[in-house]
Amino acid sequence: MTGNQASAGHLLQLIREGRATTRGALQRATGLSRSTVGHRLDQLFAAGWLREGEATPVEGAGGGRPSTRLEFDAEHAVVLAADLGTHRTSAAVVDLAGTVLAERSGEMLITAGPDHVLDTLAQWFAGLLKETGTPHGRVCGIGLSVPGPVDWASGLVVQPPIMPGWDGFPIRGRLQEAWRRHIATDVPAVPVLVDNDANLMAYAEQRAGYRDCAAFLLVKVSTGIGAGVVVDGRLYRGIDGGAGDIGHIRLHDCPDALCMCGSYGCLASVASGGALAAQLSDAGVATASASDVRDHLAAGQPDAVRLAREAGRRVGAVLVTVVTLLNPGVLMIAGDLAGTPFVTGVRELLYQRAMPRTTAHLEVVTSRLGERAGLLGAAASVVEDLYSPERADARLAALGG
Ligand SMILES: [Zn+2]
Repeated sequence: MTGNQASAGHLLQLIREGRATTRGALQRATGLSRSTVGHRLDQLFAAGWLREGEATPVEGAGGGRPSTRLEFDAEHAVVLAADLGTHRTSAAVVDLAGTVLAERSGEMLITAGPDHVLDTLAQWFAGLLKETGTPHGRVCGIGLSVPGPVDWASGLVVQPPIMPGWDGFPIRGRLQEAWRRHIATDVPAVPVLVDNDANLMAYAEQRAGYRDCAAFLLVKVSTGIGAGVVVDGRLYRGIDGGAGDIGHIRLHDCPDALCMCGSYGCLASVASGGALAAQLSDAGVATASASDVRDHLAAGQPDAVRLAREAGRRVGAVLVTVVTLLNPGVLMIAGDLAGTPFVTGVRELLYQRAMPRTTAHLEVVTSRLGERAGLLGAAASVVEDLYSPERADARLAALGG
């Protein structure tokens, strides 16, 4: 991006990333003339996307007139975000800087199917928005985190093992329709982004705590097992959204373990929260779900602790390959099983089997954002998409800028 290539959307990006936050700095960064920068900033101000912050003294000897600091106005619009789990869902109204303005969570079975879940969600969104006193017209997008593989371009869930009834379902259109019905207005349809939960958690966690980490890996172990990869600050999704789907890698030594995907011997069939719930039930410990496993672990239930450590070793064995391929700086373990026994198991296998060079600078950590990671990742991905240079320019053009 140089010279005349720098559109209003590019200027906005420089401001949002803090790389150039005054008129002078924008001129220097882009090579644009003072009047062109002024014209493009006018477009951004007219759209309500920018505001003026406090004046900052000019650097260097002699000073001069303080230049006005330009800021992205994170309050000019809101995002509706939701994190669909297998048993629980949380939803929130979030401003463009990621501040949660209103939030709700509760039991909702993903197995109830998309019609029921998306309708309920639209109803929740309408209630939450009302709580914040924000008019409908200020909703700029909806972000949805789902516990299954997503084709990023189409927003379709693809053959999800733990989301029966959702395969290929038109989530975007259905949620847009439900949302407009619940607010009962004729506002234009808002964009809906759908992504896999491990991806969005990885995105949120990397931004929140590890911005300097150029290769960040998050592994979520709840009902199923999935991974998200953030490289150079961007989610790495692979060619069709399939990157990180490590739960269904087949292991060689458990051919009789039936997986939720219908195959036998998958990693998730022996080492996921769902698998541990079944193993604990078989051992006479009442356990209905991955979150029950989490409760048993919190209480130090001995069978749960032993099985979680063994599951950690299973996952660690697969992660040896993953970590060797990616050479990440951070491996974050998240989800219902992400406690000490499981993480200990992962570390044991990683440090035993990976080359020392691979793990020399690797930090193995647990989640910082906890339950909110998926929600915040869903909101952030909507903002990044809508205010990326290309989308920003297209939206400005539509506004008549
Ligand atoms: Zn499987």
